[in-house]
Amino acid sequence: MWNVWLVVFFLCFAKIQCDDCPPIITRADWNASDPKEIKPLSINPPPYVLVHHSATQSCFTVEACKRLVKSIQNVHMNTNGWEDIGYNFLIGGDGSIYEGRGWGIHGAHAIKYNARSIGICLLGNFQEQTPPEIQTKSLNELVSCAKQTEKVEDQYHLIGHRQASATLCPGTFLFKIVQGLPQFDPHPQ
Ligand SMILES: [Zn+2]
Repeated sequence: MWNVWLVVFFLCFAKIQCDDCPPIITRADWNASDPKEIKPLSINPPPYVLVHHSATQSCFTVEACKRLVKSIQNVHMNTNGWEDIGYNFLIGGDGSIYEGRGWGIHGAHAIKYNARSIGICLLGNFQEQTPPEIQTKSLNELVSCAKQTEKVEDQYHLIGHRQASATLCPGTFLFKIVQGLPQFDPHPQ
């Protein structure tokens, strides 16, 4: 047993692998279309994490969530004319996490913050119901992984989309949860 800990210690010491990052379903896995353009964040690691809901139906299996993520990408690219799906990451009702634009990439999810934030969308509509606990647990894990691996600033500010624009997003029920998460900022700049 001691040799296992020795390996863990070495990997941590070498900063190779000691984070607690949840698994992320890749773009290839959900059959993403290629982005028309990829632009890096202006500030990276970014100082903000923005939480959204998709204001769509929910999904509770990986297969259903993959289809939902793909349909959101279709709307964002074909209807809205954006370069790619707007969000950096998306999370299903079963807690599964999907790579959107990914880390370090300029998003299309909140004017004024797209160049300096990571946008995370919880799939479902949380204006009138609360998200499953497993879904917000994954949000927590993804954000804490981002902090540990320096994908966001250590002193990042967590906010809901409604603090950035005139929108109900991420829904009243999810926003209540967001307000209780670590590093929530009631007065974003
Ligand atoms: Zn939003």
